[in-house]
Amino acid sequence: MKRIIYLLGFMTTSFLTTNLNAQTASKTIVIDAGHGGSDVGSKNNAIVESQFTLEIAKKIQQLAKEKNIEVILTRDEDKIVDFENRLSKINSIKPDLVISLHVNNSQNRTTNGSEVFIYKNNTDEKTAQIGSDLAELISFNSIENRGLKKQNFRILRDSQVPAFLLELGFASNDKDIEVLKAADYQKQLAEKIVNYLENYKTI
Ligand SMILES: [Zn+2]
Repeated sequence: MKRIIYLLGFMTTSFLTTNLNAQTASKTIVIDAGHGGSDVGSKNNAIVESQFTLEIAKKIQQLAKEKNIEVILTRDEDKIVDFENRLSKINSIKPDLVISLHVNNSQNRTTNGSEVFIYKNNTDEKTAQIGSDLAELISFNSIENRGLKKQNFRILRDSQVPAFLLELGFASNDKDIEVLKAADYQKQLAEKIVNYLENYKTI
């Protein structure tokens, strides 16, 4: 019961926050920092995916405040948030779009580059356009563009708004790690994403 009351309280609070901000914000975006807590995701001695994605998500949220874009995070701490919670948050907020941040991993340590995924059955041209724009955008500082791909990832399938999963580079590739761990890259990445969110057309 306690849990239900807690949940109701949480839902009411987030509903109110969303509604108040919706009056002023030009766009509402959900940034989903992949993994969290004991679910660390891809890992090496320089990068832990769950912490890395959270840092980038917070940077994006911070920069977006100056641009009249409301950015809501699916988690703002390094803790586990299960998929049900992430999806119910997304589908109750109904943002203009969802960006899920990840770092890739491969058995083959020479595999490198960034890529963007949209839902495998998505036929919407606008979504594909935004997806390939994002793929271009996150490929910089010698991170190679592996392009826009389609997949059946749950966050893409079950989000009721356009959703994009960004694999920013490979934690298993030394060249990518060098770029990803640099503070300058992280700052530029957040700036590029926020500039795009500010300028893309919602229709
Ligand atoms: Zn991941």
